[in-house]
Amino acid sequence: MVIIAKTNNRKSVRDNVYTRIYFLKFPKDTSDKPVIFSLIKEHDIEVNILRADILPQREGIMILEIKGSKSNVKKGLAYLEEIGVNIERLAARVRRDDDKCFQCGACTGVCPVDALYIRREDMAVLFDPDKCTGCSQCLLICPVRAMEMSLGKEWMSIDAASSK
Ligand code: SF4
Ligand code: SF4
Repeated sequence: MVIIAKTNNRKSVRDNVYTRIYFLKFPKDTSDKPVIFSLIKEHDIEVNILRADILPQREGIMILEIKGSKSNVKKGLAYLEEIGVNIERLAARVRRDDDKCFQCGACTGVCPVDALYIRREDMAVLFDPDKCTGCSQCLLICPVRAMEMSLGKEWMSIDAASSK
């Protein structure tokens, strides 16, 4: 089964909100654990499932946006690691193809964390991967698709199934 959903819990996130998007890989024996429930209820984290493909007794993958205080997010991630979930920041999969980029600057208007910004001295559009959260906004707006996110072969079957 393929799930493509946005699931917001209603819990309000109070102070020092920390937002990150992660690419998670679940081993077989965690596929039926109440992981999302635990993140929300036990770690006081707001979650937003951007994409997921998880079935009982099978390895699963998920793109998950996590919001919460930095300490709660840290504890939540530690919990995921403890149960064997492989965690990778989605931002690590974002790159810019400098051969395609023609420095139009459109992406700088949508990047919420200034990972894409204009250097005033020479008006160059720069990309700082360390600031990137992996939100995908720049991928949608770039007219020449210079911003890329590699999700790897894991997602090819999902995309194929989604388009049917
Ligand atoms: S929108 Fe695309 S082409 Fe324009 S500056 Fe950004 S990455 Fe380069
Ligand atoms: S994915 Fe693009 S818009 Fe989103 S934070 Fe990264 S550089 Fe900025």
